[in-house]
Amino acid sequence: MRTVDELIAEGVAGRRVLLRADLNVPLDDSTGTPIITDDGRIRASLPTLQALREAGARVLVASHLGRPKGAPDPRYSLAPVAARLAELLGAPVPLAADVAGPDAQAKAGALTDGGVLMLENVRFEPAETSKDDEARGALADRLAALADLYVDDAFGAVHRRQASVYDVATRLPHAAGRLVTRELEVLDRLTQDPERPFVVVLGGSKVSDKLAVIEALLPKVDRLLVGGGMCFTFLAAQGHGVGGSLLEADQVETCRRLLDEAGDRIVLPVDVVCAEALVADVQVTVAMVEAIPESLKGLDVGPRTVELFSEVLAGAHTVFWNGPMGVFELAPFTAGTRGVALAVAAVDGLSVVGGGDSAAAVRQLGLDEDAYGHISTGGGASLEHLEGRELPGLAVLAD
Ligand code: ADP
Ligand code: MG
Repeated sequence: MRTVDELIAEGVAGRRVLLRADLNVPLDDSTGTPIITDDGRIRASLPTLQALREAGARVLVASHLGRPKGAPDPRYSLAPVAARLAELLGAPVPLAADVAGPDAQAKAGALTDGGVLMLENVRFEPAETSKDDEARGALADRLAALADLYVDDAFGAVHRRQASVYDVATRLPHAAGRLVTRELEVLDRLTQDPERPFVVVLGGSKVSDKLAVIEALLPKVDRLLVGGGMCFTFLAAQGHGVGGSLLEADQVETCRRLLDEAGDRIVLPVDVVCAEALVADVQVTVAMVEAIPESLKGLDVGPRTVELFSEVLAGAHTVFWNGPMGVFELAPFTAGTRGVALAVAAVDGLSVVGGGDSAAAVRQLGLDEDAYGHISTGGGASLEHLEGRELPGLAVLAD
């Protein structure tokens, strides 16, 4: 896989580089004006962007943001992202009014060496995420026509076969950005001979999303700690009532099999923080997992679980953590995620945090990012890579 630094060494001055970045940041639009609540992904894109600018490239940045329905929607405009990027770069970042239309063409033509242009949200084009190769190809043709070279630094999107990630790379000389290279290096250290004990902590909402990675990692880990909404399907598999907690009934059987096969390595919560509803001022109850009240939902792991998980983590030398332990977005349910985040930060060895929400949790809870070996920008991508699946956006860069 060619790297952006190799591309730069060959000379990029005056050339137009289409840089696919993952600037899909969380936005709060409760005030009517979207505000970026965590700019981690924008900051993670800076090393590649700066290297290209310093080498005199004319950079066109493409990204998606949120899930617009394949048409322009001002709520998902990249305008706030362009503004934040301009602040961080200390340089203007104009935003094209379209993705690869007349305005993008005009503004791309006006770029000077070292200049940066942001294209509008690629998902404003329905073809971006289309299953139809021809539709995606037509958009990729238009994107490719804007530039001479393509650099993919959107690690969070490399598991997607989408026009701006996959198809466009087949149409232009291409290279992997520094973020992509760094992410792969770190993830490979987890799967290739990790220093033991190797502990994986999984949380988040959907067990079905993460079963494949559980299956792939279980033979490799010394301990798998399961929290978050997904723990309830495992608890149900053990025969516990889970009240109104998240439960994926169709996955109970699989969880039961995993517990049969590797129950000695899977560590489940012993207590959970329960409440009637997901609101900030709700009254909470801590229940042991044997006694989750029928009328309540489990919304965080409890203090005894944090203690148990922290003990296991204290002995680990390699840790991968994906998925918050509870609904950390709401004050009564942050303690589990905070406790585990602190225990992961204290690990003597390599600690990797993967997943958009987990990374956002680390920053939102005001924890020290530098205490972690690596905070991955890609949730789905890091999980699929750990599963050993071929990721389309990476495979295409290797050709
Ligand atoms: P990541 O983005 O880090 O991969 P996920 O997207 O899998 O994480 O899951 C994050 C979401 O899981 C958060 O929005 C959080 O509120 C939710 N979550 C965690 N625990 C629970 C729970 N017990 N019940 C419902 N949702 C939960
Ligand atoms: Mg998520």
